Amino acid sequence: MQTDEEARLQALAEHEILDAETDPSLAHIVELAARLLGAPAAFVSFVDRDRQVFHAKVGLSLCDTDRDVAFCARTIAQVDILVVLDASQDPRFRDNPLVTDAPFIRFYAGVPLRTGDGHAIGTLCLAGPKPRRAFTGRDRRILTDLARLVLDRLELRRVQAARRATQSRFEHIADTSSDAIICADAHGRMNFWSAAAERLFGHTVADALGQPLAILVPERMHGGHEGDLCRIAPGTATPLLGRTVELTGRHKDGREFPVELSLCTWTENGQAAFGAIARDVSQRRMVEERLFRLAHLDALTELPNRAVLRGRVEAAIMEDRPAAVLMLDLDGFKEVNDAHGHAVGDAVLRLAARRLRTCVDTMGVAARYGGDEFAVVLPGVGDPLTATSKGQAMIDALSEPYRVEETVLRLGASVGVALSPAHGVREDELLACADAALYRAKMDGRGRACLFTPDLREVAQRERACRDGLRRAIEQGEFVLHYQPQVSLSDGALMGAEALIRWQHPELGLLMPAAFLEVLDNGPDAARVGDWVLRTACAQAQAWRRDGVHPIRIGVNLCAAQFRGGGLVEAVATALAETGLPAHALELEITETIILHHDPEVVAALQALRAMDVGIAFDDYGTGYASLSLLKRFPLTRLKIDRGFVNGLCEDRHDAAIVRAVIDLSRSFGLEVVAEGVETEEQRQRLLAKGCQEAQGYLFGRPMPPAEFAARFKLCRHHTRPSSPAA
Ligand code: C2E
Ligand code: CA
Ligand code: CA
Repeated sequence: MQTDEEARLQALAEHEILDAETDPSLAHIVELAARLLGAPAAFVSFVDRDRQVFHAKVGLSLCDTDRDVAFCARTIAQVDILVVLDASQDPRFRDNPLVTDAPFIRFYAGVPLRTGDGHAIGTLCLAGPKPRRAFTGRDRRILTDLARLVLDRLELRRVQAARRATQSRFEHIADTSSDAIICADAHGRMNFWSAAAERLFGHTVADALGQPLAILVPERMHGGHEGDLCRIAPGTATPLLGRTVELTGRHKDGREFPVELSLCTWTENGQAAFGAIARDVSQRRMVEERLFRLAHLDALTELPNRAVLRGRVEAAIMEDRPAAVLMLDLDGFKEVNDAHGHAVGDAVLRLAARRLRTCVDTMGVAARYGGDEFAVVLPGVGDPLTATSKGQAMIDALSEPYRVEETVLRLGASVGVALSPAHGVREDELLACADAALYRAKMDGRGRACLFTPDLREVAQRERACRDGLRRAIEQGEFVLHYQPQVSLSDGALMGAEALIRWQHPELGLLMPAAFLEVLDNGPDAARVGDWVLRTACAQAQAWRRDGVHPIRIGVNLCAAQFRGGGLVEAVATALAETGLPAHALELEITETIILHHDPEVVAALQALRAMDVGIAFDDYGTGYASLSLLKRFPLTRLKIDRGFVNGLCEDRHDAAIVRAVIDLSRSFGLEVVAEGVETEEQRQRLLAKGCQEAQGYLFGRPMPPAEFAARFKLCRHHTRPSSPAA
């Protein structure tokens, strides 16, 4: 708790007068008092803790005195005026050094100066070296009235001091704030400008004061909040008041940046005044933008991502208008990626995305769906012809050559089209339909736009189930190899075996390659499974060869994916090294599809394999377009006559002619030959007659599990443990 004396001292301090220069109005009052009341000395005195301070004095040489001796110290303790006509006769002052020594005061009259709160902070007094006979009632009134004038003047000083304190408090806070603080008068002219405002907008205090708020925003942006800020004026309500808004700020150098602004108003001298707190939110905007991009855009192509596309499809459906959804897939992208590396692949995707965006323009939204898949939604397009022709236009755009640095790449695209409401009224349904149509387009030979038809739904479902199942099959090791004997036609001796993959499905039983191979080959795990087949078959063959009685050969089918990664030669070398199988006992079977799609790399890989002494058989020979020149360019060791020709060998003259031609051909190229699909004794006879040495077919044995194969051909019982391609 403050004592009364402390409160009094505090009240005195608030006037900021103790050591201040003489206040001219007070000096004037003091002079008036001396003249009106005929006193040689008059002054205002303030009673501090230990001393009395004289202010605006006339006829007095003292500056201050000890509080103990001060007449005024007694005056302030009184309610009313203190008059001492002759101090030397007054027991209270008789011995006071002010009386006994200079200035030898004999007469004193003082009125306490009492503030509104009742604190007597000083006095207005008269003094003289001569005693007085009287100080009349009129004299007292005059002095008391003058004291009131002094008080009024003091109160004014106190208010000014308080205002100064508030102002400096505000200025200190304003200048330490990292937010810009700006004040403006009723007409929007700035009259306060903080240090942060200078940092934010570039104008110095001197530049800014007196300028309109309009200089803080770009001139051209008068439509939004920026305009509201420029238009603040007395009496007009601005929508900015009491809100925090984001607007575009303009730096002195012309640069623009996002600003968060809060505007408030108050009344100052009867006029509206405005205060604005402004903050640079570039950083925050950048973070927000980054987060937005992360959540909505594909990082590589900057196209909207799958989630955004789904939203757009849903929105199009909700609008109750027709809509087309197109799924696009680049043909040949995997090959580009494998052959030229990911950097080139990424560049191609970016180019493709740009072309697609141009194609779609404002008609709808193009998104990256994943990998080399894109999707487009075209709201308002419900007509199948329009939708497919748009799809075809996209294919054309995506099929233009891609120039990446010095390389020119050619890719194609396939498109699946689904329409709402015809094919589905849910977002996921529509996308699935478009996906099914895309699959069909690819199956139909790529480079096409295919419209969804209901029968595709089943195909797609089956495929999806198969894809999921394959994944599990790989992890659980559900694949097995069966072996089909290849025998000498003349004496039936076992020459080799072809490894053929089977899927031991937990529910569906043993599945043939026809049921899953296409899906597997188009999926991401083709090479992995192919590698597993290779290792398993080599290990099995070597186990059978170990007894030395049957030095059989093993035939392993390859798929295109195994050539793509570029690791085939190494995979073969590893399989041979790990199993100990001699290279000449391995025969890799390749088909025309592999050869036609990947010319140079395939030739190189095959040559390397040939150099290792691995055999290369051309499977299903005669069914495709393989020209004779292929036989020269590829380092083959064997042709396998397709079972279709063998099947017709005895009934069809043409088939018989082809079989003969293939046999002759292989002879002239120095290749061995094996006839596939021999089912009858008659076929065996005919083939033998035509000079074919080896054959494979049900007549000699169906593909069978390894144990059965070993028993049948009296091979060593040992067979390799099954493993999983995932291992
Ligand atoms: P392919 O390489 O032409 O294999 C020969 C196919 O003919 C096998 O069918 C086999 O069971 C069948 N076959 C053998 N003898 C006869 C016969 O006398 N009459 C009839 N009608 N058919 C006979 P499968 O096992 O269904 O294999 C089908 C195809 O799947 C194979 O054709 C091959 O291209 C592919 N394939 C099988 N296993 C693998 C593998 O491990 N990797 C790869 N990439 N492809 C494989
Ligand atoms: Ca084969
Ligand atoms: Ca074949």
